[in-house]
Amino acid sequence: MSRPHWYLSRVKPLQNHSWTDREKLAVFTLRSEEDIPARRVAIIFGVTKTQIYNVTRLVRRGKNKECFSCGRPLSPKERKQKGLILSCETCKVNKKEYKRKRRNALLKKGICPYCEKRKLVPGKKGCIQCISATHRRRYNQGLCGNCGQRPIARDSDALCTLCLKVNRTRIAASRTLNSTRKKKCPTGRSSKK
Ligand SMILES: [Zn+2]
Ligand SMILES: [Zn+2]
Ligand SMILES: [Zn+2]
Repeated sequence: MSRPHWYLSRVKPLQNHSWTDREKLAVFTLRSEEDIPARRVAIIFGVTKTQIYNVTRLVRRGKNKECFSCGRPLSPKERKQKGLILSCETCKVNKKEYKRKRRNALLKKGICPYCEKRKLVPGKKGCIQCISATHRRRYNQGLCGNCGQRPIARDSDALCTLCLKVNRTRIAASRTLNSTRKKKCPTGRSSKK
């Protein structure tokens, strides 16, 4: 997926990379103010024409202080929210509830809620590909691959100081556990059956 260079020098071309506000605004400006045909804007952004129409509509509704989803004019209280894309309270609640239900249903079935296709890794809430994709994305942003909250520690390749500490404690604990087991059972067999 290629993206234009003239204003997006810091954006990396990732797959399924979601639109930033800056990009949405750029699409809107090209379409409405400069009146460039959707087909051409689509080529510039490396997406389909439909996506360009959708993004333009979202930004237009935001500028008109309408809900991006249902298009209803926002109430005075809803108008106060920040951001380019605005939503009414009803749509916000509905969307959250829908997402939560869908995610839970998929997890229950043992299916990854991100790609909605592959099986979950036992003990994790995603499939192997989505987990590693998340890891990679965080890494590219310079964030901890595990929590995604803090920057990568200086003495680590992928984790923040906190996750690193947790990991080390865990490794140390399992080592202690293993060595005590060996002492108790010289044959290496577990006494439990
Ligand atoms: Zn709405
Ligand atoms: Zn997945
Ligand atoms: Zn972390």
